[in-house]
Amino acid sequence: MPELPEVETVKETLKGLVLGSKIDHVSIIYPSIIEGDRDVFCNALNGKVITDIKRRGKYLIFEAEDTAFYSHLRMEGKYFVQDINEPLIKHTHVVFHLSDGRDLRYNDVRKFGRMALIDKDDDYKIFRGLGPEPFSPDFNHAYVKEHLAKIKRPIKTILLEQDFVAGIGNIYADEILFRVKVDPRREALSITDEEIDLLIEATSEILRKAIEKGGTTIRSYTSSLGVTGRFQNELGIHTKEVCPICGNKVMKIKVGGRGTYFCPSCQK
Ligand SMILES: [Zn+2]
Repeated sequence: MPELPEVETVKETLKGLVLGSKIDHVSIIYPSIIEGDRDVFCNALNGKVITDIKRRGKYLIFEAEDTAFYSHLRMEGKYFVQDINEPLIKHTHVVFHLSDGRDLRYNDVRKFGRMALIDKDDDYKIFRGLGPEPFSPDFNHAYVKEHLAKIKRPIKTILLEQDFVAGIGNIYADEILFRVKVDPRREALSITDEEIDLLIEATSEILRKAIEKGGTTIRSYTSSLGVTGRFQNELGIHTKEVCPICGNKVMKIKVGGRGTYFCPSCQK
């Protein structure tokens, strides 16, 4: 599932490919991907130039002159930029036909991804329920301490909640807690001041590194191979069998229903 670094990589790659391109018209093949009225969606975008692509948490935001829509990739969503004559591959659900002879194609095997028009004028009110971006100054010691203060649920679960911090998913939550040496099952309120500082630092460092790696990998991709947002390299603990620090066996458990990897020797 694409998390912040993957969505950021998709965003940057698509900016390089389609920024300034004009959407001639939109074809919706699988209607459920679009939330709201599909005709309104298409009509709002027809003839508009893609003026910017942004990211908020795990959401991509496409701006097209006076209008905008978000795209959430959820489990398997990906974008391809292909020549208009190239046959559509299976699981292509939405096609933005560009006036320069290319298509921006949205592909999603699981069909969980969603797109919807959003109001540019209200400063994207829809995203106000999201927590701060991990790199923003709002994600600071005072904020984290206050948020965690009364929560008895596991710290891993809280890291995944988008109203705490936007963009972290299952894989990076494991990586962050491994770096901070905190057991993912610990009650959120038990996280100490020192651990809060480490948590903020580790979150930013790990995500930045992942963005760098994603960017490196993705540059070797050609547009027709698509932008998948699956470049989770260099993992320290998630999916590992042996702890890279102490050499002990990594435990795989469920925390809040999510598969969780941690080292019981290193993480307390
Ligand atoms: Zn260890």
